[in-house]
Amino acid sequence: MTAAPELQTPHGDFGARRKAFGGLGQWWGVLAGFLLIAAWVNSAAGPAVVIVLSALTAAWCFFQAPVTCGAPVRGCEDGCRNNASGLLLGCHIRQHRWQKLRLLIFRRQFREFCAGLFSDGKATIVTLAGVGSFVSGLVALVPGVVVR
Ligand SMILES: [Zn+2]
Repeated sequence: MTAAPELQTPHGDFGARRKAFGGLGQWWGVLAGFLLIAAWVNSAAGPAVVIVLSALTAAWCFFQAPVTCGAPVRGCEDGCRNNASGLLLGCHIRQHRWQKLRLLIFRRQFREFCAGLFSDGKATIVTLAGVGSFVSGLVALVPGVVVR
């Protein structure tokens, strides 16, 4: 039983730092992304560090990043403008979550989903971080993908 179940991080002092950052606290995934880049640059960091940081960054992008919902809404070209958590989840409207998942599943609508990933600056950063961390984790997990 922990007091803060929403903090999926091994660092115990993260809660205090998160408060200090205020609204910026929800961008901790970007910080994890920078640490990931540092881990790649610094060869002293082992593959385990890279894998953990990749997983953290990817999880943040897909399930926690503060992006716009973007679910298709009739009469509104940009789609839903509510705040959502993560690229894969919609806003608080439950229907929108299903709509976004449906965009992923049906191939004809997949392009629409991809367009939504680059709808604004915020979404682009989160998408690039998500793709980058995913690839980085893959490379760290599968030896021989990158010639060292
Ligand atoms: Zn929505």
